[in-house]
Amino acid sequence: MSYNIEKIRSEFPILSRSIEGKPLVYLDNTATSQTPRRVVDAVVSGYCDFKANVHRGVHTLSQKATELQEESRRRVRDYIGASSEEEIIFTRGATEAINLVACSFGSLFPRNGEIILTVMEHHANIVPWQLLQSRRPDLKIKVVDINDRGELLLDQYRDLFNENTCMASFCHVSNVLGTVNPVKEMIGYARSKSVPVLVDGAQAVPHMRVDVTDLDCDFYVFSSHKMYGPTGIGVLYGKKEHLLRMPPYQGGGEMISHVSFEGTTFAGLPFKFEAGTPDFVGIGALPKALDFMDEIGVENIAAHELELMEYAEEKMREIPGMRIFGNSPHKSAVVSFLVGDIHHYDMGMLLDKLGVEVRTGHHCAQPLMQRLGISGTVRASFAAYNTLGEVDSFISALRRIIPILS
Ligand code: PLP
Repeated sequence: MSYNIEKIRSEFPILSRSIEGKPLVYLDNTATSQTPRRVVDAVVSGYCDFKANVHRGVHTLSQKATELQEESRRRVRDYIGASSEEEIIFTRGATEAINLVACSFGSLFPRNGEIILTVMEHHANIVPWQLLQSRRPDLKIKVVDINDRGELLLDQYRDLFNENTCMASFCHVSNVLGTVNPVKEMIGYARSKSVPVLVDGAQAVPHMRVDVTDLDCDFYVFSSHKMYGPTGIGVLYGKKEHLLRMPPYQGGGEMISHVSFEGTTFAGLPFKFEAGTPDFVGIGALPKALDFMDEIGVENIAAHELELMEYAEEKMREIPGMRIFGNSPHKSAVVSFLVGDIHHYDMGMLLDKLGVEVRTGHHCAQPLMQRLGISGTVRASFAAYNTLGEVDSFISALRRIIPILS
């Protein structure tokens, strides 16, 4: 199939706008991707045609809203290869999903349990475990390091396991280095030690086919807004055997079976973990984002993005003083870099003046920055709708601003 970039771009209204009088070149896709018209239309329709609270009414609108939400759950189940919709919990994002697991599943950890993380984690996969540790000072966090290419030290990973290890939690793809971790192998090793695994797939699901049954992970999390979907929703996949044992994370409406002052019983899965009114409009629109990805084929999207990244990296390496962080052969379409001693913030500001939107700073990965001995990077990241022409604009903008900042 040929990659019809013009057709793809025509679905994204924002791509025709300009910044500072220059055509927008949006290269901040790792932070959030743009949204195709069909998703926006589904959100508008959710508000204009179907808005009523879910699971609470006998009336037509409530039933339709509920149907859209539950249809979305089944679609997500199929999209990630889960075996039951009871294993799909809607959250506010990957962050909330990890907090849910750390709080609820973490409350079941044995005394002196040890949690294995990696140095390349987003704060979302560090701080929830630290919060748990602040309530449970007996728990220990151990961290896997990386090599010079930005790949995990797998020998060290294996060596960190012992009889106290109660959890391993790591990203599928690094949001800074782009490294695609060998998660299947890592899960397999944890499984051989009977240690449950959470995979943070926030940067994986937008770029590759993920099958949680094939991976055999215990938990998998991701965010809709990074994969062409609405903001404010995310997914927690959890194995049913764990979810059944886990206590509720938040209390309120929707997650109960019966409430009295003498005691409360909880709803079944997945509702036990969905207290309060969810973003049912956004959830109802999420399948449109999956349709968008399916129509192109996520493998085709990834191949296109990698072509852009390789082209960008080749051009960037010709620039004197260029340092690219993350050089694994297994890499997703993210380029983090610095040039000479130019501050990442200054570079981001000037790129913006030329219409190029990149992210600067620590990318919510301060421990990784510390490991790399830097305060931050400039990060360009690619999505389905980016073009080689945009890479050229980015490179020529870089070449224009570097002499000004040097
Ligand atoms: N994990 C990774 C690897 C991320 O890149 C991000 C966001 O950038 C998150 C978790 C948190 O996602 P959210 O802010 O959508 O909850």
